[in-house]
This record gives sequence, C-alpha cells and structure tokens, in this order.
Amino acid sequence: MDIFGDLHIHSIVSDGSLHPSEIIKISKAKSIQVVSITDHNTFLGSLIGSKYIDRRSQIIIHGAEVRTHIGDVLVLCPQPNFISSRDLLSLIDLCRDNNCLLIPSHPYDVLRLGIRGNVSMKVWNAIEVFNGSSDLLSNIVSYILTKDIDIPHLSNSDAHVGYLIGSAYNIIDVDDFNADNVLDSIRKGRVIPIMRYSIKGNIKRVGWGLKRFINGYKPISLDRLNKVFK
Ligand SMILES: [Zn+2]
Repeated sequence: MDIFGDLHIHSIVSDGSLHPSEIIKISKAKSIQVVSITDHNTFLGSLIGSKYIDRRSQIIIHGAEVRTHIGDVLVLCPQPNFISSRDLLSLIDLCRDNNCLLIPSHPYDVLRLGIRGNVSMKVWNAIEVFNGSSDLLSNIVSYILTKDIDIPHLSNSDAHVGYLIGSAYNIIDVDDFNADNVLDSIRKGRVIPIMRYSIKGNIKRVGWGLKRFINGYKPISLDRLNKVFK
C-alpha cells in the first residue's frame, strides 16, 4: 500500500512555530500519514507528538536533525531515542544499535549546513535530495550531484510553519501500517520523492526567516518549555 510521509518538520521544541500536537493535526488534515518531527539535536518534539497521533490513520517516526561536525543529518528511529553525541561516528553507532536511519538533510543548501561532498560516504541509508524550505538553486545542485548515488532519495518539507507541512513529501510503499515497516521500506528504496514547492509557503517563510534572523535563534526558554508541556 502507498502512504504519504513528510519526514523533516520542526516544532517549538527547537526553532519551529508549532506545538507538536498542531503538527500532528495539520498533517492529518493534509492526508500526510507518516510524520517525523525532527527538532534540532533532540527527539523531544516527536516524543510529545506521538501522544497526539490517531493510530488508525497516522504513524509517527521518532526523529531529530543533528548538527554534526560535517553538517546536518536526520536520525529517524522506530523508538524515541536520545542524542548522546553530535559526533558522526557516535551517531552511526546509535543508528546501528537502534535500527535507525541516518540521512543527510539539504546536503547542498547554500545557506545552511549541508554535508556536501560527504553524501558519497557509504554510511547513509538515504539522502534528502529535495528540501521544500531550501532555495531552488540549492535543490537543483543537490538533484544533479546526487542523482547517480545509488541509495534511496527523499523529499521533505523541513517545515517550520504549518502551511509548509507536506509541501514536499514521499510516497512510501509499505506492507504493514507501522513505523518499523515505514523505516524498512525507506531502507529498501520503496519510496518515491515528490519534489514540490509551495510558492506561497516559501514566500511567507522568507518573512519568517528574516524575523528569526533579526531576533536571533534562542535556545528553548522556560516560557517556551511550558508551552511544549502544556
Ligand atoms: Zn531542518
């Protein structure tokens, strides 16, 4: 069966604008059945989000976007996990021990920290070849430089705001409707990346990004933490 998945979304646990519960609700409304809330260097967003899913129609993949010394990578796991280190070798160990996927996010983004030429390392389970929050040039470069790399390709929204959730997504072919099966299908390449831009969403995101740039990114405050655990 084919299901739709957006595997790279940020919540207020890091620099997104939505509570994990709102991400789950919006995903459901947009018929995105597989959701991964991948906050920066923590699984907390997906852990909280998992309390709100409708198990009959939604699957949450526990995830985090980790800033390693070579660039940003997504860690997607069947169970909630914790980031013991941002060192790539430790992350590789974590993924092997816990059956998680290790996926470079926006590898050639000109403004953000992608891993660039390291996409050809033999340690990745898949590559995010299209990122709905990256600029067009970065995505074209990424497409050209990764098209011959023979591991599964993914397309995600990297949404920090509601209207971008599911703007880019994947069609995942699963046998059973559960997280283990989704991860297994991605590992085996039973996935088709749908590389799509929301023009309206991206214009709005520029405004949001500018505001964040001016105000600066602040680590989670007590006030924000209270909202997370409302
Ligand atoms: Zn991200």
